[in-house]
Amino acid sequence: MTRLLSIGECMVELGQAGEGLLRKGFAGDTFNLAYYARLCGGDRLAVSYCTAVGTDRLSDEMIAFIAAQGIGTEAIARIDGRMPGLYMIHLDKGERSFSYWRNASAARLLAQDADRLRQVIEAAEILAFSGITLAILPPEDVETLLSELRRAKAMGKMVAFDPNIRPRLWDEAARMRETITAGARAATLLLPSFDDEASHFGDADIAATIARYQALGVATIVVKDGGAGVTLAEAGHPPRHVPATPVAQVVDTTSAGDSFNGAFLARLAGGATLDEAAAFAAKIAASVIGHPGALIPREALGI
Ligand code: ADP
Repeated sequence: MTRLLSIGECMVELGQAGEGLLRKGFAGDTFNLAYYARLCGGDRLAVSYCTAVGTDRLSDEMIAFIAAQGIGTEAIARIDGRMPGLYMIHLDKGERSFSYWRNASAARLLAQDADRLRQVIEAAEILAFSGITLAILPPEDVETLLSELRRAKAMGKMVAFDPNIRPRLWDEAARMRETITAGARAATLLLPSFDDEASHFGDADIAATIARYQALGVATIVVKDGGAGVTLAEAGHPPRHVPATPVAQVVDTTSAGDSFNGAFLARLAGGATLDEAAAFAAKIAASVIGHPGALIPREALGI
């Protein structure tokens, strides 16, 4: 049994259900990754989620939802007096926009207890985190988390990082770039989106993104580029391209990258090569963007 631990923030999602009604769900980049890793990983991959929630009723519901997906909740801390972050999806002529209430969310305290964090990281062979995980933490807790992840990397574990750059979550662009760079240094596998890297690091092309992260000591880099597919780069090999799976109609791109990451890690955990895992993950991401919502049901994935 291989154990994957995804670390970050799951939020309460309020989606439009028509006639002014709202539908409650739960989502967030690293949680979405865990969801798809669980669906794609089969019986030999145990997936757990690491975050912090409150002791309130909504937090109970979130934990019950996570558990109902078959995802382990033993790495979730409970913090008195804090609540989960929340976001609302607005729909305007098919265009989605979001409002967030997450500044005081419990998840911001997920790395506060360093001993607990070490224990849960030690218990897994594959770790996953994102730039959003780093963006929500106080600076001293970023260092706590990254030092545990560097330790995991030194122990030979797979540490997967999606920079998932969200400038709105950072007060300063320079600190954002520094922290993302520090995150990459702690990783063995990087899963950036080329658009974000070009906008925020000024990369002229995918080769520039690969070169910048290889220089930080990241062994494997998978640059996602939407409908143009992904480029796989491993030290000592020429980079290679894996095409996206064509999608008849793009319905909702929410969670495309997260589902790709989850499916990709699940296949790698099962012993697939990088190319096999990327081709499989492209199929899963294509199904996800062909359906509404971040978390689509197993039946819709065609697995
Ligand atoms: P992110 O959502 O993180 O920005 P991308 O937009 O690069 O990431 O998408 C992640 C993956 O989703 C891609 O590598 C690809 O497999 C799939 N994907 C995204 N957009 C399309 C598209 N228009 N057609 C087919 N596949 C797509």
